[in-house]
Amino acid sequence: MADYALTINGQPLATEKTFAVKNPATGEIVGNAPAATMADLDKAVAAAKTAFETWSVTSDEERSKACMAVADVLEQNAEELAQILTAEQGKTLNGAGSRFEVGGAVAWTRYNASISLGVEVIQDDNEAKVEVYHKPLGVVGSIPPWNWPLMIGIWHMIPAIRAGNTVVIKPSPNTPLATLRAVELMNQVLPAGVLNIVTGQDIPGETSLGAAMSAHPDIAKISFTGSTKTGKAVMRSAAETVKRLTLELGGNDAGIVLPDADAKAMAEKMFWGAFINNGQTCAALKRLYVHDSIYDEVCDALVEYAKTVKMGVGTDEDNLLGPLQNRMQYDIVNRMVEEAKAQGGRVLIGGSPSGDPDKDGFFYPITLIADVDNGLSLVDEEQFGPVLPIVRYTDIDEVIDRANDNPNGLGGSIWSRDVQGARELAKRLECGTAWINDHSPIRPDAPFGGVKSSGFGTQFGKEGLAEFTSMQTVWS
Ligand code: NAD
Repeated sequence: MADYALTINGQPLATEKTFAVKNPATGEIVGNAPAATMADLDKAVAAAKTAFETWSVTSDEERSKACMAVADVLEQNAEELAQILTAEQGKTLNGAGSRFEVGGAVAWTRYNASISLGVEVIQDDNEAKVEVYHKPLGVVGSIPPWNWPLMIGIWHMIPAIRAGNTVVIKPSPNTPLATLRAVELMNQVLPAGVLNIVTGQDIPGETSLGAAMSAHPDIAKISFTGSTKTGKAVMRSAAETVKRLTLELGGNDAGIVLPDADAKAMAEKMFWGAFINNGQTCAALKRLYVHDSIYDEVCDALVEYAKTVKMGVGTDEDNLLGPLQNRMQYDIVNRMVEEAKAQGGRVLIGGSPSGDPDKDGFFYPITLIADVDNGLSLVDEEQFGPVLPIVRYTDIDEVIDRANDNPNGLGGSIWSRDVQGARELAKRLECGTAWINDHSPIRPDAPFGGVKSSGFGTQFGKEGLAEFTSMQTVWS
């Protein structure tokens, strides 16, 4: 069991207090994370503010090179980072697990290193030259969640740094360790103060580090990924200092299966669209609407596929799904499933955990529940776990209304052999990303973000990089 330190101004900083991070599969302590004080946070912000003076005027080429070096150092240490992630988050090493997550972190870093916003020329003639510059904002605060802790941290940190900002990241108290180690490694190739990290617990009744960052006068922008409830709190705290925000919040993605879909051929993609990372993924398929004419066929195909997927401790190379990350999420999932069963939901597979979460880890079985509808918490709210409700429909216009009848709007999908027709229907879904015959793939160059209560702002692509800048128009 290792003790971890903060990294502030390029130096390790041990704190007086620490907190234990436990493995959700076994309950064992994985490591001790530093419990930063508000004074530590101020120190980190001050270091970032000083480093900004130099980093913001470093050439675009230098910053690109530094981000490439970050990608290299993460790649060279990928297996160590993956092992830490599996131990603290629970996800498997294989499948779309921690090796995949670290690979994503490297890929996103390389992509951001390779793009540049440049200068846009609006007019350049005898009369005038009008140019638009992208200027870095200052110190960026990054607040990621616990589901994809390292990759989402990278989505915040790297475009911010690439664009000339400096960063203070505060990981989720559930999963701080891989990010603490990654930031330590990244500091081997970044100038001191460009990237700093603080960690601490969220203690009810006390101001959390995240809340203090959201209100901090020397932080120019918060990049937040997490629940809609906390996102609203960030927005309130940020109002006083008129901070810029990117908020990537909760999702409750609907998938709609049309009568002409090939149930058997699509079952595998449908399954992983919902169960990637045990359903603990913002843009996972969280409610599936299936046309009455193929309802039973789709249910059977999903059950058949689900039976082939192994769940267990993440370090077993054969397992593809691990435990839920924490007890709170386990209890939410359990409550929703019990309510669905009590309201007539038909369990096709799973539905009753066999172990005791206090002794046997937070394992919840793969669960498919049929004959449910809007109005039930499992359909209306984000379950964030390995449970998929399957809803029957008969009328396409009416099912689009039911899919859109939700405060969230992150992703959505249409499943059909008629891809062109499916594209037209996808445009009617109120969401930031729509997939045809798939759900949840992302890529570093395709803009990603939510509508409605799923937040605002764009990640990925040049648009995502531009979010870490302000535009200045210069006339001459
Ligand atoms: P959460 O909102 O509980 O926590 C997110 C982060 O906010 C943590 O680091 C936490 O310590 C911090 N925090 C807590 N109180 C705060 C406060 N008052 N001010 C500022 N920060 C505070 O979310 P979670 O449970 O870690 O993550 C799960 C949620 O994240 C789900 O709703 C999921 O859909 C969402 N999510 C969204 C995306 C996306 O891209 N839209 C991606 C991943 C996860």
